[in-house]
Amino acid sequence: MIKLFSDTKIDELLNLLNTSSNISMVTHVNPDGDAIGSVLAWSNFLKEKGINSTVIVPNHFPDFLKWINGTENILVYFNQKDRCERILKSSDLLFCCDFNKISRLEALGEFIETLGIKKVLIDHHIGVEEKDFALIFSKVPISSTSEIIYHIIRQITGKKHVAPRIAEPLYTGIMTDTGAFTHSCSPEMFRIVADLMECGISREQIHSKVYSSFSVNRMRLMGYFINKIEVLPEYRTAYISLTREELDRFKFEPGDTEGFVNIPLSIKDIVLSVFFTESKEGFIKLSLRSTGQFSVDNMSRKYFQGGGHKNASGGKSFVSLDETVSFFKSILPEFKDDLIY
Ligand code: 5GP
Ligand code: MN
Repeated sequence: MIKLFSDTKIDELLNLLNTSSNISMVTHVNPDGDAIGSVLAWSNFLKEKGINSTVIVPNHFPDFLKWINGTENILVYFNQKDRCERILKSSDLLFCCDFNKISRLEALGEFIETLGIKKVLIDHHIGVEEKDFALIFSKVPISSTSEIIYHIIRQITGKKHVAPRIAEPLYTGIMTDTGAFTHSCSPEMFRIVADLMECGISREQIHSKVYSSFSVNRMRLMGYFINKIEVLPEYRTAYISLTREELDRFKFEPGDTEGFVNIPLSIKDIVLSVFFTESKEGFIKLSLRSTGQFSVDNMSRKYFQGGGHKNASGGKSFVSLDETVSFFKSILPEFKDDLIY
C-alpha cells in the first residue's frame, strides 16, 4: 500500500496528540456523509487510543447519518453555541476535517479565528488555505476525507483492519463522496474498501440506512425537482431552482435534497448540472456538478464565492434567486468551449 504521508508528518501528528490535553474536531457547514464519517472515524479511533475528543458541527446534519456510532455525542454549534464556545476555548488542538479553509465553518469559523488554538487539517478539497493550519494532511485526487483518515490510521497502526465503529463511518464517507462508487474511485480506494469489508461491517445495511431511509416528502420533492429541470442543450447544461416556499411546501428537512443535483447528469449529453436553492439564511446556495473535463470548481471560484472539486462544488450568491439564475445563464457563453468538447 502506498504511503500517502511521510513518517515525519505522522510523527508530528503523534507528537501533537501526546502533548495536547483537550482535543476538539470540526467539519464544514451542512455536513454530508464524508464530513460526518471522517470526524467520527477519527474521534472513534482516538477514543480507542484512550484520547477523548469533542466533535462540533456548525449546523444540523441529515437523519440518514444518525445511526453511526458517535453521532449521539456530536454538538451542533447552531443549537448549543455557548457550550461549544466553552469547549473550544479550553481546547488546545482542533482537527479540521473535510474542508479547506476556516471560512467554510461560517459563524463557527469566525469564533474559532478569535482563538489561538492549534489546527490540523485533514481534507481532500482543492485550494487549501495553508496559513489557517499548523499541520496539513491534504491530497486532492483522493476520493474522500474518510479515505485519507484510513491512510493516516493505517500509517499509525501498521494494520489494515480497524474496529467496526471506525470502519463503518469510513465506509460511509467513501461511499457517499463517490456517489456510491460511481466517481473519483481509484484502484487503491477499492483496495481500502475491500479491507473495510473485512472489518465486520455490513455493506448492505450501510447502503440501506443511507440511501433507503428517506421520507415520503423527500420522494415527492424529488418528483417536483425532476419536473422543474431546465435543459440548455446548446451548453450541455441543466439547472433547477427551488424557492424557500417550494421547499417548505414539501416540509424540507436537512439532507432532503442530498444527491438531487446529480440527477440531471443522467440526461444524455448533459455535462453540467446546477441546483439553486434559497437558504434559510437568505442567500442563494448553489450546488454544481459536472462530468469529464469541465471544472465546476473554476466556475464557482470565479463567480460564486465557492469551490470544492473539479466535478462537485458549492457556491453562494447574494442577489435574488431569479437574478442568480439570469446571471448564471449570462456567464455560460464564456464556458461554451469547455462545455462542448
Ligand atoms: P455541495 O454541492 O454538496 O454543497 O458541495 C459539493 C462539494 O463542494 C463538497 O465537497 C463541499 O464540501 C464543497 N463545497 C461546497 N460549498 C463550498 C464552498 O463554498 N467552498 C468550497 N471551497 N467548497 C465547497
Ligand atoms: Mn468530502
